[in-house]
Amino acid sequence: MKIIVVSRRHGSTRSFTLGGWTRALLSACIVGIPVGAATFAVTQMSHDDTSDVLSSKSAQAWEETLQQQDAAIEIAKQEAEKKLAAMTLRVAELQARLVRLDALGERLTTMAKLDNGEFDFSRVPARGGPEQDLEDTGYAAPDFQQVLDQLGDQIDDRQQQLDTLEALMAKRKLQNDVFLAGRPIKKGWMSSRYGRRSDPFSGRIAWHAGVDFAGKEGSDVVAVAAGVVTWSGDRYGYGTMVEVNHGNGFTTRYGHCKENLVKAGDVVKKGQVVALMGSSGRSTGPHVHFEVYKNGRTVDPATYIHRASR
Ligand SMILES: [Zn+2]
Repeated sequence: MKIIVVSRRHGSTRSFTLGGWTRALLSACIVGIPVGAATFAVTQMSHDDTSDVLSSKSAQAWEETLQQQDAAIEIAKQEAEKKLAAMTLRVAELQARLVRLDALGERLTTMAKLDNGEFDFSRVPARGGPEQDLEDTGYAAPDFQQVLDQLGDQIDDRQQQLDTLEALMAKRKLQNDVFLAGRPIKKGWMSSRYGRRSDPFSGRIAWHAGVDFAGKEGSDVVAVAAGVVTWSGDRYGYGTMVEVNHGNGFTTRYGHCKENLVKAGDVVKKGQVVALMGSSGRSTGPHVHFEVYKNGRTVDPATYIHRASR
């Protein structure tokens, strides 16, 4: 065997010729080291195994540990079952409440004569959007969680529908209340119309800016719409008078009263008794002189008296 050594620095070479013994020694070194190491490792491992596993003390310790773990798992399982039972009950409760909410919503929709298509309480909330894959976490949420999530979504949807419904109905109620309609009395008859007439005192042709309703003295005079009282007291020509501002440019006056039951600044409802019928001021007998002002000018109240309430 001939070994050639090349020197990097000088570029020169040297060669050795190895004899039989040297060759054998080198081979033994190259092959022998890993084999020896492996043999040593295996020996060591088998030595460890036998010493630990076969030791009765270790086996007992393992057994105890396993038993402890089993007990812990059993307790956890029982806890989980208890929680599951409680959650099942809670879900059932929520579902029952949702059913009642749906029934209420349907009833309100029918009562308010709203479009059923817009407020469908039996339908799954309308939603959408592109699907996006979540990163695979390797864990799927249990069905229970999904049921709870769906319930939560449904409740949110119903809440929104009911809120909208409430707002719509409140608005409608307000519109109805400020909508002038009906007579300013509960009992009585129209004794004088709006427009040209002969004055009951002078007999000359004069303009009657309102409508007169005759009735029993002390009978109720009611507001024809909701509003704020802007006058309550004596006023020239009207006797004891109540004036109500209804917004939207509308004002009504109720004259010749016996007694006023409201004061300036009061908020009155539609149909509320604001005064008692009398004959105060320029009047020939118990009646209410009823005027309707639209943007500061009197209009024929008959239009508003005869139209139907909304
Ligand atoms: Zn009059």
